[in-house]
Amino acid sequence: MIFNNEFDGKITLAGYTISEKLTSFYEKTIKHINVKVEPLELADTTGLRAGCDIDNYPIVKIGLNLNGEKYRIKESLFEQTVAHEIMHAVLWYEGFPEVKALNDQYVRYRGIIISDFQDPVINKRLVAEGFNSEEKIRIETNDTLEGLAESHKNQIPLVKFPKIQKFILSLIYLYHYLELKYTIEDEGVWKLFKQRFRYVYPKLCIFLDAIEETINTIGYETPEKMINLMKKILNIFRLDDDFKVITRC
Ligand SMILES: [Zn+2]
Repeated sequence: MIFNNEFDGKITLAGYTISEKLTSFYEKTIKHINVKVEPLELADTTGLRAGCDIDNYPIVKIGLNLNGEKYRIKESLFEQTVAHEIMHAVLWYEGFPEVKALNDQYVRYRGIIISDFQDPVINKRLVAEGFNSEEKIRIETNDTLEGLAESHKNQIPLVKFPKIQKFILSLIYLYHYLELKYTIEDEGVWKLFKQRFRYVYPKLCIFLDAIEETINTIGYETPEKMINLMKKILNIFRLDDDFKVITRC
């Protein structure tokens, strides 16, 4: 992988000395499977802090923004970020789905869509491994609520294309639903999020109800469940011809 053994015996990745925790996480999750992980330096122009590129599977590129100004990964979040991106490769190996945009103008939303579906699965596993904390999930929820209030106040649409606007916004809801209901199981924070989100986007309520119901019926934590969930939700928004659900198999 990306690890280099240096003369002092310490294992480093992109210049950072890796803890035993990350090393053993790597050995446990990905070393035994037929996936070769390679680092890829990301520039600020990508607008990304990190990413995982599975298009050349079984070679998986873990993109890390290490030198950018705006989106550089904070040092304190480095290992957590690497573990997160490794997990995207593991999910792909396990047969979890991603999406392919069939419409060229939607290609840029692929990453957001994949994250909103896969990240709750990853974060749940990372909480169990000690990389993510429940506290982090609560802070993130708060940040989302503040961001929503801000864009609502300023009337800035988060998505340029009207046809997928409701879909992309609803995925933010889906993401937090899975995190709050299933990962940290915090009914209080979930209720607050639900209320505030629906207050900002009253026209979405009918879709949000459908999303909650679909998740409760299908689930999300196995490849099969996630494939069904993605297909069902694309269908709710009538986007079956715009995105295709894909898996490695
Ligand atoms: Zn992710």
